[in-house]
Amino acid sequence: MPSRIVGIDLGTTNSCMAIIEGGQANIIPNSLGDRITPSVVCIDEEGDVLVGKPAKRAAALNPERTIFSIKRHMGTNYRVNVDGKPYTPQEISAMILQKLKWDLEEYLGEEVDQAVITVPAYFTDAQRQATRDAGEIAGLTVRRIIDEPTAAAIAYGIDKEEDQILMVFDLGGGTFDVSIIEVIGGVFQVLAIKGNNMLGGDDFDQRVVTWMVEEFKAKHGIDLSLDKGTVYKLRAAAEQAKIELSSAQKTNILLEAIAMSDSGPLTLDMDLTRAKFESMVEDLIQSTVKPTQQAIEDAGLTPADINTIILVGGSTRIPMVQQVVQKIVSKEPRRDVNPDEVVAMGAAYQSGLLASLDEELEMSAADRMPADNPVIVHLTPFSLGVGLVNDQYGILIERNATYPTEAKDYFTSTRDFQTAISFPIYEGEEQIASTNTFLDMLRIDGLPPAPRGIPRIEVTFRLNHDRILEATARDLTTGNEVSVTVVATDNRLGEQEKARMTREARQRVTRMLEQRVKETLFNQAESLIFRAEKMIGDNSDPTAIETRSIVDALQRALDKGDTQQINANMTKLSDQITRLEAAEY
Ligand code: AMP
Repeated sequence: MPSRIVGIDLGTTNSCMAIIEGGQANIIPNSLGDRITPSVVCIDEEGDVLVGKPAKRAAALNPERTIFSIKRHMGTNYRVNVDGKPYTPQEISAMILQKLKWDLEEYLGEEVDQAVITVPAYFTDAQRQATRDAGEIAGLTVRRIIDEPTAAAIAYGIDKEEDQILMVFDLGGGTFDVSIIEVIGGVFQVLAIKGNNMLGGDDFDQRVVTWMVEEFKAKHGIDLSLDKGTVYKLRAAAEQAKIELSSAQKTNILLEAIAMSDSGPLTLDMDLTRAKFESMVEDLIQSTVKPTQQAIEDAGLTPADINTIILVGGSTRIPMVQQVVQKIVSKEPRRDVNPDEVVAMGAAYQSGLLASLDEELEMSAADRMPADNPVIVHLTPFSLGVGLVNDQYGILIERNATYPTEAKDYFTSTRDFQTAISFPIYEGEEQIASTNTFLDMLRIDGLPPAPRGIPRIEVTFRLNHDRILEATARDLTTGNEVSVTVVATDNRLGEQEKARMTREARQRVTRMLEQRVKETLFNQAESLIFRAEKMIGDNSDPTAIETRSIVDALQRALDKGDTQQINANMTKLSDQITRLEAAEY
């Protein structure tokens, strides 16, 4: 039987996982029973890792050790420093993935080592590669990276409905994406994508925090923003208030003893109305309008052409967001799937498709797609090309081209007897090559000396399913060829580095297992003590005295956490209990 593949929405603020059971995508709860897990990590003094709600709670006490919104840094050379140790965004994301994997395996009682992970449609190659690396470090083979809007559309069962144009409006905790997707005969084609990697619910929370800080300062003359732990408390309260205002017109924010004054602890007690909240964030919400209109325009459409609007991400629960979207397209968005879970569910359907393809392959049947499964066609959000003479930009793969795809172009030398040509690879739309994002260098050496204009170099760009680019330069005279697989060079993890991170992740799991074994042992020891004490009561006969001395020894071992002594005294005590029971009998 082919192994299970989990669908994971690795979100900026929250993550969510789902698997296919009986043809349906089911959200799998974490160990606390929650359907979504905050993408928050806390690394404690021992190097142990907390993920999710416990990490979020620990933030106020350990602000320096708690990491929020790491997804914003994926694919960059940003490092998180905890106790002088630098962690890459991949490693932190891997901690989240590892926790999800751990909870999933506990829930299912079987190992799951494959995943489909979703990313914003706007993610660059470097960001996708970083996501793949994070999966690998967490012990997951990432079978596919898919775009979040496509996953959402699949979860809505759009592939089984009639042909249509969709708009997926995704406003989460830290990112905003709008995608226009055409669905014809169950085939998805992303026509255009626009967005802002730096806009989301966190920004709304920040506005509320700023307001709280200003009001408090005006009233008490104390600046709450100076203490990091206090700011976390404010942020949590701001988020709570924001969420309440999605259904209520007014809410109260109450934080007791938030600061100290000469006359004692001070309480923050503020009322916030929906209207006031809306006035604080209106410009942020309005900033989604232009990209949305632009996406529709990029797709060569008008708002009237959009048949269905899908809302994704927790921040689309804000009434003003819904009003703004509705106004642009003059249509009601669909509301029949939970915006927090829809992406993970789509990823699960995609993993179901992969699993059934695996099964087909295993049965050595023809490798065709099952009839009612969606085929996904993606569009590249940026053009990909090479830098040429005079810093001109030679685009090989145009923005909004479908992929997987392949493109070729031919170049020559610009100087006589030139024996090497370098092609810097860029991503972007600027005419001046070097103003785009540099990805990697493709350099071909050993060209036979010839007058300029004579050599013919064929450059091929192959963009795979996951938007990882393989660039090849081939000298048509000699047949010599060089290739590079493109992810931004400075952010790419070396194999050695990745192996170290994987090792450390495994060690963390071992430590967690050891901890669990220890906890079980402690519980068993305590219940033995309880049983023994119950049996001997207040008796002071020699057996009772002997039993009590074993109980005391076991208790001392427990206090010291000495596993060896605990085990030894547990054996003694359970033998003693057997003897007591026999005597009683
Ligand atoms: P996501 O990234 O999709 O998990 O979305 C998380 C963001 O949605 C966070 O900023 C949450 O505070 C926000 N959010 C969740 N529920 C609501 C709600 N009912 N109203 C407003 N914002 C919400």
